[in-house]
Amino acid sequence: MRLWQFHGGIHLTGHKDLSNHTGIIPAKLPKFLILPLLQHIGEPTEPIVRVGDKVLKGQIIAHCFGSDCSLMISAPIHASSSGTVVAIDARPVPHPSALSAPGIVIETDGEDRWTELTAIPDYTRLPAAQVREHIAQAGIVGLGGAGFPSHVKLRSKDIDTLIINGAECEPYITCDDRLMREYPQEIIEGAEILKHTLGGAQHCIIAVEDNKPEAYQALVAAAQGRVEVIKIPTLYPTGGERQLIQILTNKEVGRFQIPASIGIVVHNIETTRAVYRAVTAGRPLISRVVTVTGTGVEKPQNFEVLLGTPMREVIDQCGRKPNLETLIMGGGMMGLALPSDDLPIIKTTNCLIVGQVGELPPPPPPLPCIRCGACAQVCPINLLPQQLYWYCAAKEFKKAQAHSLFECIDCGCCAYVCPSHLDLVGYYRYAKAEIRAAAAERKAADQARQRHEFRLMRLVREKQEKAARHQKSKSNPDLTTF
Ligand code: SF4
Ligand code: SF4
Repeated sequence: MRLWQFHGGIHLTGHKDLSNHTGIIPAKLPKFLILPLLQHIGEPTEPIVRVGDKVLKGQIIAHCFGSDCSLMISAPIHASSSGTVVAIDARPVPHPSALSAPGIVIETDGEDRWTELTAIPDYTRLPAAQVREHIAQAGIVGLGGAGFPSHVKLRSKDIDTLIINGAECEPYITCDDRLMREYPQEIIEGAEILKHTLGGAQHCIIAVEDNKPEAYQALVAAAQGRVEVIKIPTLYPTGGERQLIQILTNKEVGRFQIPASIGIVVHNIETTRAVYRAVTAGRPLISRVVTVTGTGVEKPQNFEVLLGTPMREVIDQCGRKPNLETLIMGGGMMGLALPSDDLPIIKTTNCLIVGQVGELPPPPPPLPCIRCGACAQVCPINLLPQQLYWYCAAKEFKKAQAHSLFECIDCGCCAYVCPSHLDLVGYYRYAKAEIRAAAAERKAADQARQRHEFRLMRLVREKQEKAARHQKSKSNPDLTTF
């Protein structure tokens, strides 16, 4: 199969061999599970259990508002183990700002007892919409880190190509690599289920970076020609949805477009396995594979972790080294620095990088931009990062937007090569947050104004109706009006 190239990109040291030599092992069952109500992109869920309720593993404990997930951008939350709900309140969630958000806390009973699960014996006999609803009820979201509810992507019409993203291009992360090596059959079957659910996409491609030869071989052997398994060059950020599409199809997803608008849907490796498990075994998303790595742990490892498990407990299972300084959730380029490990593993936690003092040192002090243009050469979106930087630093947000700020995928390639050590991505994130906050404020003000106007209109209408009734009663004295 012919491959194409996207603009820019960089070669990075992968640090993958820290954690990719040993198999995935189950993490220990924790005493408490903390399950935030929002673990995905979209609408939060609402609890359907109360404090004191007994729950079983796999039972839905928080549903989408209105409980019809298939119509919403949302995904239900399930109990990851059996036990008792001991709290429903705000708890710190994995976010750099130490933000708190509502969640459900389960004290586990150690029995790990499943609820009754409903599998689909032969999905090929069911209409796509019914399989999609089953996937929605299983709470599956994009497990590559984005967290977009998978059933929403599966609503897409006229899909020609399904791509399963096995690039895993970010440094340190190896959970997909291990999954591809250990569960190739489940991934191939999962890809076939996704294909069926998309109404029978013509092509199905699994793309694997060429730094994962064992994973590639395992998938080729399992696929037996049912699905195309393609080796792609290792170059960051190949795993970006748009970059991967360009490499494989030479099609560009335009501004304000989504891949589905050009007939393509992309799903992640672990998402694909989760779909397989949900359909063939009825198993909802209650666990995921997490890479725990970095020089701060004795034995970097991939764990199958129950969602809601405190990060601290998973890190402890690798053995902590002294002088820990950093904790990053996600990869070495786009990951989020966390303030503490007293936070739960959620659906989007693919990797924890635990760093000793000096492993991920802060960059040297920034210097003025010298307009060297190195950032523009590596930007995979073909933006003008230095120009964006000037606008964001000067708070000229309209100009930054006009220069496609929201096309930026925060990949960090520009900052990586910047000789002036400018925190370019920090400026872009700040500007995006400010613009979004201003837009939310405007929306709230508009809604308040609309409510006020509707109320005035209603009062006027009621007054007019009352006047009309009085008029009518005057002409007919037998009528009583109010
Ligand atoms: S790489 Fe850094 S110094 Fe060079 S143009 Fe871009 S922002 Fe300026
Ligand atoms: S962070 Fe944004 S501007 Fe910088 S290289 Fe990536 S996409 Fe381009």
